[in-house]
Amino acid sequence: MIVVMKPGAKKEDILKVSERLVELGFKTHPIYGQEKTVIGAIGDKKALSAEAIINLPGVEKIVPIMKPYKLVSRELKETPTIIRIGGVPVGGHGLCIMAGPCAVENEEQLLLTAQAIKASGAHILRGGAFKPRTSPYAFQGLEEEGLKMLARVGEQVGLPIVTEVVDTRDVELVAEYADALQIGARNMQNFRLLREAGAAGKPVLLKRGLAATIEEWLMSAEYILDSGNPNVILCERGIRTFETATRFTLDLTAVVVVKENSHLPVIVDPSHGTGNWRLVLPMARASVAAGADGLLIEVHPDPARALCDGPQSLHPENFDRLMGELSPVALAVGRDLAPASFRETAPSPGEAARLKREAM
Ligand code: PEP
Ligand code: MN
Repeated sequence: MIVVMKPGAKKEDILKVSERLVELGFKTHPIYGQEKTVIGAIGDKKALSAEAIINLPGVEKIVPIMKPYKLVSRELKETPTIIRIGGVPVGGHGLCIMAGPCAVENEEQLLLTAQAIKASGAHILRGGAFKPRTSPYAFQGLEEEGLKMLARVGEQVGLPIVTEVVDTRDVELVAEYADALQIGARNMQNFRLLREAGAAGKPVLLKRGLAATIEEWLMSAEYILDSGNPNVILCERGIRTFETATRFTLDLTAVVVVKENSHLPVIVDPSHGTGNWRLVLPMARASVAAGADGLLIEVHPDPARALCDGPQSLHPENFDRLMGELSPVALAVGRDLAPASFRETAPSPGEAARLKREAM
């Protein structure tokens, strides 16, 4: 439920309400707005007799949160959340583009990719060191060696890094090197992993499970927020349907539905979502048009020889093309691709016109 404080409620009133809620067994999450403060109170509402709170000084009303997810919901927090990965904002006015190989294979491959994506305007380097493969015989990743390469190359090129953690036992290790932890589609409902990744102190990129409903996905995000970590970025990456023409069915409706129901940023991964590099470009444009806060794109300097997901990986030249094609789409929906340094507010009309001229 949400305890809405009266406009201008005093700090000590807010504190008293929070203390009382904690006494009643609730976890509290105050959100200080410009006009009003609200306190999210998460717990068993049977424990509450409304009088215990409603009569406290400064309280305006108590509103139940109707959705099963609470902390991630728009009901609790109306304004979109901006999350920073190594200083790069995700969820603000600018789009955040994460790119890199499916798997880290060696330092040369990673460095070539990182330099290329940086030159094309990407903001974050991605790459898997622990790979969740369908076959136990497929390349499983370089593990800690791969993490070290990511950290070195990220530093050298000047890009924060995001990489997947597949096992609770590796959370601490991955968090030592990564700027953000990725939870993959296959682990979206690994609740222990969600909690441990949540507690690791780094932002979490939570991919949608390949057979998960949007509500289940948001409930998984709720686990991470409930572990004390508000920094969750959602990533739509395609779901299983009867369709076989593409590897998965990229559900762009999810972008809109998530944005309606949650304040968390949502990005799209058209690489896994389609499984075919030729489809990545149009679906990347469509994702931005639908309102995504960013993209996750697989890029490999030699896709034909990639150890993992070559058919969906873009050659750096095509990634560069994609970035060029995105610019006007971003502008058309009031966003921009500027090297995020790092704009969070909308540009002035004059600056918007200049950006538009540049994009023509
Ligand atoms: C990945 O990003 O490389 C990956 C394995 O993605 P997903 O979990 O979406 O399949
Ligand atoms: Mn992949």
